[in-house]
Amino acid sequence: MVQKYDVVVVGAGPAGSMAAMKAAEGGAHTLILEKQRLPRFKLCGGNVANWVVLKLNIPQNVLDRKYTSITFCTPPKYEKQNFPVPGAYWGVYRDRFDYHLAKMAVGAGAELKEGVHVNDVIVEGRSVKGVVTSEGEKIFADVVIACDGAYSRIAKKCGFWDRWFKERGETWLDNMGFCMGVEMEMDNDTIEERFGDSYVIFTGKDIAPLGYGWIFPKDGMLSVGVGSAAGMMNRKPSEYLEYFMRHPAAAQFLEGGEVMLRRGAFVPYRRFFTPSYSTGILVAGDAAGMVSPVTGEGIFFAVRAGMDAGITAAEAVQSKDFSAAFLSKYEERWMNSIGHNLGFQAQVFEETIGKILKMEDKLVQEEQYEKGVIEAFLKYIAYVAEYSTKKSKKTT
Ligand SMILES: Cc1cc2nc3c(=O)[nH]c(=O)nc-3n(C[C@H](O)[C@H](O)[C@H](O)COP(=O)(O)OP(=O)(O)OC[C@H]3O[C@@H](n4cnc5c(N)ncnc54)[C@H](O)[C@@H]3O)c2cc1C
Repeated sequence: MVQKYDVVVVGAGPAGSMAAMKAAEGGAHTLILEKQRLPRFKLCGGNVANWVVLKLNIPQNVLDRKYTSITFCTPPKYEKQNFPVPGAYWGVYRDRFDYHLAKMAVGAGAELKEGVHVNDVIVEGRSVKGVVTSEGEKIFADVVIACDGAYSRIAKKCGFWDRWFKERGETWLDNMGFCMGVEMEMDNDTIEERFGDSYVIFTGKDIAPLGYGWIFPKDGMLSVGVGSAAGMMNRKPSEYLEYFMRHPAAAQFLEGGEVMLRRGAFVPYRRFFTPSYSTGILVAGDAAGMVSPVTGEGIFFAVRAGMDAGITAAEAVQSKDFSAAFLSKYEERWMNSIGHNLGFQAQVFEETIGKILKMEDKLVQEEQYEKGVIEAFLKYIAYVAEYSTKKSKKTT
């Protein structure tokens, strides 16, 4: 029997679930295909912007901890410097958070199939017409939405990687950061005493050359990790993590914690990728590089772009128009919703970290890098503060 949906979404992360929710709300017969079984673990700081929590009405039992400030631990003495974070952020565990979003999509009428690995796309002429699973099953769709994360097989198969990377003389890896992290158990009294309302970012060439380390406290757990530009790592990622966790700057927060789980993951930290649409296909979230080049934040951007993709797909179904021209509305939408924020951060990144990454002298580069990271973070915090003030003035 031929399986045919209006919209097939690949991946049930924040982008995929929000795309499916909006497509289903717009009346499209929608299927989400997720290769893992939910709830699934995802290596992540789990630091989510308040906008997402308010907009999606995320219940308290999905939220672990509220952050209203950020602590930098910086060389040479690794003294703690505390800065307020405007608008507040929430610490979440991605298994619970992502599962909640997937259930929202199902609640809106989308069908979810778990444990289904999408391996290929069905292309007729220049149009994407559906997907093929690892079992060889063909599923047809008028619009496919690729939300399959940093290593997007769908974007690659549809030829986006050639346009985004090859034509610019780049590779996929050039645009990736690689992170190693652990989840560490710790009692809540110790967490409260050591972190209060803050999460901690570490810089320093010995801790995280060309990257940074982090500790996000949660309920009875800490998410701890370190990440760097993937193509520029000159040690094994696990060695960076071991070193970071043993360093006195981090150890003062981690002492007594017990490592429960250790993982590695890519994050597309460099820039967003356009075009994000073609005939019969939209690409959202990490698959399209929609991550802050400064902080590595991606959940907010995935949620917003996912929504924009779902709305556009549902409109395409209504209009029976799946052309690239029609689907370009998606890019207009997300440029409007998150393009300014991502664009600003890309600019800050280039003026600070990007400039340093291009330096020939490796010693100067490592020296400058730690200052560059903090400068970039602070510029971004100032941007968020200005944005929040403007928004609250508008609503009063
Ligand atoms: C170490 C680390 C820390 C981070 N910390 C933060 C943070 O604190 N705050 C923040 O906002 N962002 C953070 N990010 C970024 C954030 O995790 C991503 O931006 C976000 O998850 C993007 O959502 P997504 O839906 O696009 O992709 P994902 O969340 O990666 O979801 C993709 C989904 O697609 C599924 N999938 C993949 N391939 C297939 C396939 N072929 N067939 C079927 N299913 C498939 C996957 O199983 C997965 O469920 C971090 C990233 C890393 C690596």
